[in-house]
Amino acid sequence: MQIFYTISETQNYLKTQQKSGKTLGFVPTMGALHAGHISLIEQAKKENDISVCSIFVNPTQFNNPEDLKKYPRTLEKDCELLQAAGCEVVFAPSAEEMYHNLPKLKFDFGNLETVMEGKFRPGHFNGVGIVVSKLFHVVKPDKAYFGLKDLQQVAVIRQMVYDLSFDLEIIPCPTLREADGLAMSSRNMRLSVEARALAPHIYKVLNLTKAQLQAGASSVEAHAHAVAYFKNYPEFELEYLEIADFDTLMPIGQINSPDKTAICIAAFLGGVRLIDNIVF
Ligand code: AMP
Repeated sequence: MQIFYTISETQNYLKTQQKSGKTLGFVPTMGALHAGHISLIEQAKKENDISVCSIFVNPTQFNNPEDLKKYPRTLEKDCELLQAAGCEVVFAPSAEEMYHNLPKLKFDFGNLETVMEGKFRPGHFNGVGIVVSKLFHVVKPDKAYFGLKDLQQVAVIRQMVYDLSFDLEIIPCPTLREADGLAMSSRNMRLSVEARALAPHIYKVLNLTKAQLQAGASSVEAHAHAVAYFKNYPEFELEYLEIADFDTLMPIGQINSPDKTAICIAAFLGGVRLIDNIVF
């Protein structure tokens, strides 16, 4: 496995590979890797000659400096996991390497960022747009793999790829969960034992809300029920619970019936911000 820390080394190496006809599958991450990330690498390996993983805790997508400071950084262990998964190339730049100067360009994703993550993390998707487009220019992948755990991120990146005519395919990948239903996340390692025991309630509420909607409850009723559920567990600070159209991410009123519905949650638990969703 090759590990590069600079843009030029990475570009030089990958350019040579592409010239020899190899296809590249790319998985951008912020490190602190778990089996969810590795499932993306495995899919990239299946569908491409070379899999490339970037590890970069991107400061421009954090609106909360405390959150950025506390984000786990475990590069050595990450590289061991990637090596074991058969990943061919790791790009792990420093913040200085990525941003000698702070970018002046600003992304505005319109409706896609006025809800959920965009609403509660102002500037987050601008930071995501900047870093992912820079990474796409460094790696020039044929396919890029993103987890549906970050559903809104997938929508934003798809829009960016379309608007800027990036010559690559976005592949959305399913969310991997722990045995008790908790969505795998780099942030889970920051949960206390007590918080970890409570965390699966997020997935329980998602399933409960889905069952209610499928049984004919309106989105207003299902929403109220879910909010009431969390009242039984005051350790959670619910930031949002949205029942949204999968394609537009707009909240669903009683009369819409989208092809696919997404239920999305963000909640703080013991100071750790967790997100999850289900789509049906
Ligand atoms: P992150 O490092 O958390 O920014 O995530 C890097 C990529 O891994 C993103 O595309 C995430 O959506 C994806 N990812 C994170 N958690 C999971 C999971 N539990 N299952 C599948 N993909 C995930």
